[in-house]
Amino acid sequence: MTSESTGKCLVCGIETKNRCSACVRAGIDLFFCSPEHQKFVWPVHRCFCGPGKANPWTWPALTPDEAREALDKLHVKPGPSAIRLDTHHSTIADSLRVITDDNPEDFLRSYMIPNRKPTADDGTIACAIRIYLYFLRFPPPNSPPPPAAEIPLLYHVSANAHMFNISIDTEEWRTPLLHRLSVFASWQRSPKNPEFDHAVTKYVRPDIIRYLDEVVIPVDPEASRKVRQAFVSRTAVLRGS
Ligand SMILES: [Zn+2]
Ligand SMILES: [Zn+2]
Repeated sequence: MTSESTGKCLVCGIETKNRCSACVRAGIDLFFCSPEHQKFVWPVHRCFCGPGKANPWTWPALTPDEAREALDKLHVKPGPSAIRLDTHHSTIADSLRVITDDNPEDFLRSYMIPNRKPTADDGTIACAIRIYLYFLRFPPPNSPPPPAAEIPLLYHVSANAHMFNISIDTEEWRTPLLHRLSVFASWQRSPKNPEFDHAVTKYVRPDIIRYLDEVVIPVDPEASRKVRQAFVSRTAVLRGS
């Protein structure tokens, strides 16, 4: 896909005309200098690529398997591992009671019905539940953490967005930020790759901070400060993992 306009590759920052063509149809320019750099991000980006997904950033609805897992763990408290969850003392059932008047069991079973009709709240609900499912996968403190590959990718991305205070896409600045963060999450989950490591240190992480300072501060200084603080402190730790 080519066009008059250019932009910076989301992975390495090189100026390029190449954009994700499905996302152009969604009305957002996401630049990738090469198929190789697009491939780095693809495991996450494929879930948020194209019309109905990319712009505004829309979390995919719960799958029947995810709904089943949530149903199994409906009343389990995530415990101390979820201290980063503001509501770590609560359960999936508690959070569903805030979101819907339906009985939580019936509500989750509705996701297992074949050809279920999507609703406008599907994305928000799915993200909220995946954050719980992420923390519920972690063992008690002082036990070894599970290998990253055992945590489903969307749980990981939802929990990241939550930890950085941007899981709910309510303002326009969040969508481009979430696409940038998806590069970061892809890197965390990818097999070791010196080129990707270099790109994250030299471009991806500084670009997220630059976006917060230059784009978000003027429109939402309070949110920018919160996200920046969480991102800078947590990614300093995450880099070693
Ligand atoms: Zn690139
Ligand atoms: Zn795309």
